[in-house]
Order: sequence, then C-alpha cells, then structure tokens
Amino acid sequence: MNRDFIANANKILARLAPYGVEVVAATKTRPIEEISELIETTDIKVAGENRVQELMSKYDARYTWDFIGQLQTNKVKYIIDKVRLIHSVDRLSLLQTIEKEAEKRNITANILIEVNTAKEENKGGLYLEDALDFSQEIRNYPSVKLLGLMAVAPLYYEKDELEKCFNEAYKVYTELKTGFPEAKYLSMGMSNDYRIAVDCGANLVRLGRAIFGERIV
Ligand SMILES: *Cc1c(COP(=O)(O)O)cnc(C)c1O
Repeated sequence: MNRDFIANANKILARLAPYGVEVVAATKTRPIEEISELIETTDIKVAGENRVQELMSKYDARYTWDFIGQLQTNKVKYIIDKVRLIHSVDRLSLLQTIEKEAEKRNITANILIEVNTAKEENKGGLYLEDALDFSQEIRNYPSVKLLGLMAVAPLYYEKDELEKCFNEAYKVYTELKTGFPEAKYLSMGMSNDYRIAVDCGANLVRLGRAIFGERIV
C-alpha cells in the first residue's frame, strides 16, 4: 500500500500544531483501509465525507465522521446519527429536516452554517450578509446546535482575493460567537489554501489532496 499519506499527514500536523488547528481528512474516493490507518496512526481523528452514499458505504462506528458536502434533505435521515458535525447547512428546508430527524431519534445535531464567500453560482452556501439572520433562525430548532461556520472560497483565486474572503468570513464568525458562545469552529481551508485560511483565523481545515494526493516536499 502507498503510505505517503501517513507521512503527508504528519508533516501537515507538525506544521499546524503551533496554531491549534484541527485537521479533518477529506476522504472522498479513499478506501476505508486508508482512512482507518490514517486515524489509527496519526493525530487526524476525523474523516470528512461529502457524499451520503459514500459515507454510508464506508461508515465504521469506531471512527468519527463529519459531513462536509452539499446535503439533500431526503438524505439527512441516512447520516444524522452517524456524524459528529454537518458542515454544510445553508438553507431553511435543510435545517427543518435536520431538526425533524434529530428530534425523532432524540439526539442533538451539531451543525455549521456554510457560507459562499465569493457568491459563486454553482456552489452551496449562504451569502455572508445572510449568515447572522440564519443563525438567529436556528434558535427555533431545539434539536439543532450551531457550532460555527464553514466557509468556501473559489479554487482559482489569488492570495489577496482568498485573504479577502477568509477575513470577511472570520469577521462574521466572531460576530456569530457573540450570540453563540459554543460556536467554536471556523471550518475554512482546503489543500490549496489552508495556510492562508489559518492565517486568517480558521481553526479547522478540510484536507484531501494535501494528505492523499501529491507528496509534500
Ligand atoms: C474534497 C473536499 C475538500 C478537500 O479538498 P482538497 O482540495 O482535496 O483538499 C474540502 N471540503 C469539501 C467540502 C470537499 O468536498
């Protein structure tokens, strides 16, 4: 088996250790054997999946799973009791369905509000200016607990544009925290931009290719 991903993970963890940032491995397309090796031999303890079907096929209750992709309301029921955190809540209908399914099972669903920092049309996420109003709405859903914000920025942006997105997301996150002290996560940064995101205040990064893809030198 190719074990570069363990070395990659340890390098990233060493690099991020001074910042106190949690790394969630974005494990799409990776087999469960690799995911379990990663979790059992490194300090990465959470696997983030972005498709319901794929999460269900790999699911193992010994590990901690996050849902990080766009989520259809009719699939909430399959993952609601399997994930630590849903990063991608961006609309009322999804919030309502999560409430209903969590309530049914007598559990609390932990969520992040997803924001689309550059208003990209083909992506999910609320606009930043709508995130705080949406957070107030969440107070009406007793089985849902808001734990922070997940921000995505365009893949093709230059550093200064990414910094603008991430700084704006950070600002909304700090405002959110004044009303929701338990909102401890700012999930932002992927393989191509996580260093910038961390400099802008991210405390959780979602990394796929940086771990499983190319070797870091
Ligand atoms: C795949 C994925 C990531 C990780 O992307 P990489 O560029 O491989 O690091 C992060 N967040 C979401 C929602 C993803 O689907």
